[in-house]
Amino acid sequence: MYTTLPGYKQLYAAGILRERAELLWKMFSSCRLCPWQCGADRTSGQRGRCQAPGELKVAKALAHFGEEPVLSGTRGAGTIFFSHCHLQCCFCQNYQISQEGLGEVLTVEALAQKMLSLQKAGCHNISLVPPTHYLPHIVEALCLAAAEGLSLPLVYNSNGYESLETLKLLSGVVDIYLPDAKYANDALAKKYSQAKDYSQINLAALREMFAQVGPLVTDENGTARKGLIIRHLVLPANIAGTQEVLERIKSHLGSHIHMSLMCQYLPAYKAPLHQELSKRTSSEEYDRALVCLEALGFENGWLQEHEEINGEFLPDFEKGESWN
Ligand code: SF4
Repeated sequence: MYTTLPGYKQLYAAGILRERAELLWKMFSSCRLCPWQCGADRTSGQRGRCQAPGELKVAKALAHFGEEPVLSGTRGAGTIFFSHCHLQCCFCQNYQISQEGLGEVLTVEALAQKMLSLQKAGCHNISLVPPTHYLPHIVEALCLAAAEGLSLPLVYNSNGYESLETLKLLSGVVDIYLPDAKYANDALAKKYSQAKDYSQINLAALREMFAQVGPLVTDENGTARKGLIIRHLVLPANIAGTQEVLERIKSHLGSHIHMSLMCQYLPAYKAPLHQELSKRTSSEEYDRALVCLEALGFENGWLQEHEEINGEFLPDFEKGESWN
């Protein structure tokens, strides 16, 4: 039976969690929370590249049944969607939240209560999507929630574009890292996600995350307690560079890593403006990715059924639909 407490509980008990929140707040007045390092004074409402305000803004908090089975389990992942994102992917399925900033301002105390409500509802974890640009608020909320009995594993659902300085402050705070490895090619990352030096920054982030949490560990019910799961979305026309991404992961982290290889790409948001992104990933393209995964010896993780992917994977958050 898995009995280890989530990392943040231990840091809270030792008084270290609050210190981490203070260090993150110090990065906020000349913001360098993500690799853009804009220097925006978020404390005075100045907005950087992510367009996130100084106040915490949240779009949804719900039990999410569409994640990997180790995260969704039987009662759902306790997912909190934060408004805005520091990447601008032209095909983002959650663009209403990530790019248009849908959501409402919340206090840190209210965020702590949302975490506790998700625990009360029976969720298996607290999953933060994407957390980077509100980390000071989140870690402060964790202090409050930990004091009131929060004890679920913390999942850091990331676009994989993270700074090492920030990640190091999360050592021991995050239990499960769930990053993307989106692109092999920096020029394509720049073209479709406005990301600079994506491959190098992504690889350094994956290595740091793995150093902190190690391989995936599950409890006696098969739900995740700790570790790293890497997601890779196969894009049409090999835009993601799947083989190269997988080779890079194998060469730096090994082939025992849990990989979630996804084919759920649909041309959302501004994707139809690019002809090569205006159709979904074909079953042949996904099959080629599977062959590659197998040939490289990856043996842990999850695949998707190509036939099951349809427009239902595009939640309309403005209509208040849940994603399950
Ligand atoms: S989190 Fe936003 S404001 Fe801060 S460095 Fe990144 S893009 Fe700039």
